[in-house]
Amino acid sequence: MKKIVLALGAMQSTEMDILESEFHVIKLWKEKDPEATLQAHKLQVQVIVSTYNGMPVTKKIIEALPNLELIAQYGAGLNNIDVAAARARDIAVISTPDSPTRDTADTAMALILTTLRRVVEADMFVRVGKWNSGAFPASTSLAEKTVGICGFGRIGQAIAKRCSAFDMKVVYNSRSQKADQPYQFYSDLKDMASNVDVLVMACPGGDETHHIANAAVFKALGSKGYFINIARGSVVNTEDLLVALSNRAIAGAGLDVYETEPSVPQALISMDNVVLLPHIGGGTVEARSNMGQLVIANIKAHFNGEPLISPVAA
Ligand code: NAP
Repeated sequence: MKKIVLALGAMQSTEMDILESEFHVIKLWKEKDPEATLQAHKLQVQVIVSTYNGMPVTKKIIEALPNLELIAQYGAGLNNIDVAAARARDIAVISTPDSPTRDTADTAMALILTTLRRVVEADMFVRVGKWNSGAFPASTSLAEKTVGICGFGRIGQAIAKRCSAFDMKVVYNSRSQKADQPYQFYSDLKDMASNVDVLVMACPGGDETHHIANAAVFKALGSKGYFINIARGSVVNTEDLLVALSNRAIAGAGLDVYETEPSVPQALISMDNVVLLPHIGGGTVEARSNMGQLVIANIKAHFNGEPLISPVAA
């Protein structure tokens, strides 16, 4: 008999099909009465598959499943999972942290390019026939600018590599200085913001980083500074960002993630100094395929009594 896997969100269809061929998958987000489904299967569920944009893995769900052994996260961030509640029950957590790194760093680079070089506006300029009436205004060069990266893990360092190739100077802020990194370290985000032209958020979401990009940071970034966020919407105080953008207290912003996603504030949509992406950072077929395969391989390893492939460190 197939083992039961409780899915709280969808993986890419190719990998979802493989998961369903190997296991009996309950798609909780599709159930009319998720509570009743949980109750009906609570004794059989040993594994949850979760996604950053699916139903959150709350303490309530964890406590409702007495035989839960593994939470397998399809994605890098863990802010949709109550990891403390899982740890308290000795439930293992795996994630797929390496899969989206390069594509997310590429997305940060795309946002830096499109925001500073006004690529989206320029495209529209051609499409609506404005070019016939005159040249597009000059934009801002990346070369020789300083980029400050907040969060200097896998993605932050991949962004640094890309920015260096564009002849930008890289500095960073994280909880600790990285001995193996040649770039200047700032222990304080506001301090770093006051010394950079482009501020990129690449840290995890969650309580520790909630609204760390706020009015004080935007003031420090200044009227020629650009703000890029590929981390999580929660790291930014959206109200403060809207004020800074509308007052031109900062020059512009490139955003992939939002506090209220998939809903995006109308005020942002109507601004011409922002570039807005629908959380596509790691959203390539290749990255998603890699994430799905890793989730499945971890689940199989668990059921076979083998060591997990990508456990989240306690
Ligand atoms: P990672 O390797 O764990 O690196 C996270 C970095 O953030 C570490 O350098 C850490 O500092 C730093 N950090 C943690 N708390 C901080 C704070 N309060 N202030 C400043 N820095 C802090 O993670 P990653 O793989 O680079 O991913 C980072 C995040 O990107 C994920 O958590 C996820 O939310 C987001 N993400 C977004 C997308 C997208 O589609 N837009 C895709 C993938 C990931 P220390 O090293 O000093 O501990």
